[in-house]
Amino acid sequence: MNEGEQLLELGEFGLIKRIAVQVKNASGVILGIGDDCAAIEPTPGLLTLTTADMLVEGVHFDLAFSDPLTLGRKALAVNLSDLAAMGANPRHFLLALAIPPSLSLEFIDRFIAGVLERANQFKICLIGGDTCASSAGLVIAITAMGEQAPAKIVQRAGAMVGDLIFVTGTLGDAALGLELLRGGERVGEAIDRHLDPIPRVVEGVALAEAKLPTAMIDVSDGLLADLGHILDRSKVGARLQLAAIPLSAAFLSSTPALGGDPNALALAGGEDYELLFTAPPDRKGDVVALLTKIGTPVSIIGEITADPGLAVIAADGSDYQVTAHGYNHFARR
Ligand code: ADP
Ligand code: MG
Repeated sequence: MNEGEQLLELGEFGLIKRIAVQVKNASGVILGIGDDCAAIEPTPGLLTLTTADMLVEGVHFDLAFSDPLTLGRKALAVNLSDLAAMGANPRHFLLALAIPPSLSLEFIDRFIAGVLERANQFKICLIGGDTCASSAGLVIAITAMGEQAPAKIVQRAGAMVGDLIFVTGTLGDAALGLELLRGGERVGEAIDRHLDPIPRVVEGVALAEAKLPTAMIDVSDGLLADLGHILDRSKVGARLQLAAIPLSAAFLSSTPALGGDPNALALAGGEDYELLFTAPPDRKGDVVALLTKIGTPVSIIGEITADPGLAVIAADGSDYQVTAHGYNHFARR
């Protein structure tokens, strides 16, 4: 019996049972996997924040680069990152899968193990989903729900003229990792950042609870694109200091060999899954203290301006000419 036959023998309902027995019922789940719908009890006084993300084989991931455990972790992580960006506490999620019948049961078991590992880490409970066959590649769609008090939710709109612009961690590593994977490398820090991002849930929730950010977004499409979303929604402009953009040691040591402008990777490379947020200058000390206590680096990379548009200032004070703007699925290439 080959691996493909194992999934065929198990069938859709066998697979759903196999997933369901691994899920521990969590708070607020009145009915979990097994009926036509799940039933959830909302926490009184809190709003539910809902987000969906799809990962499509050949578009978002390449099975030659990613092992199933890591892919499972990433599939949930990208949704958790959206919850974090609004300051929502993760609560429940749905997992929809379109699976090529040739995929091995071992692959699916490892994938589910990865999803549930991140779920347990961030205390979000799997409450249902959908399972079908795919005539092409693997498609993973997750819908995640979180909760937060109305007054603590952080939106993209809200940045004020004079606010400082903060970003957690370092930028450009995931884009570098993808370049390295395409070049044939398979291990390293930057590659881990691309394949296995850790969502900034603890940071996003703590910032929101402390009501520090005026606007926040997670960096998934690239710094310039995602800051652009904050500017659009907040109807303000920004001045970014190129020299202040946080770059990792791995990034600084491996980008020279790639040639080209490494700034482009840090400004426009996607999938950093860091938090980008604005806060008034007089809250700077509180922001730094809070993130230092959590153990997460934070950098101030610019400020919000009344002039519309986004200016990037080079280290010598001149205007930096931006050439790449971030990932756009339907852009001409
Ligand atoms: P229906 O046909 O009524 O939509 P399904 O047979 O698709 O129901 O699903 C049965 C149960 O299994 C439901 O509770 C559904 O949410 C759950 N389920 C289906 N696929 C998955 C999955 N991939 N992960 C978790 N739960 C799932
Ligand atoms: Mg039904």
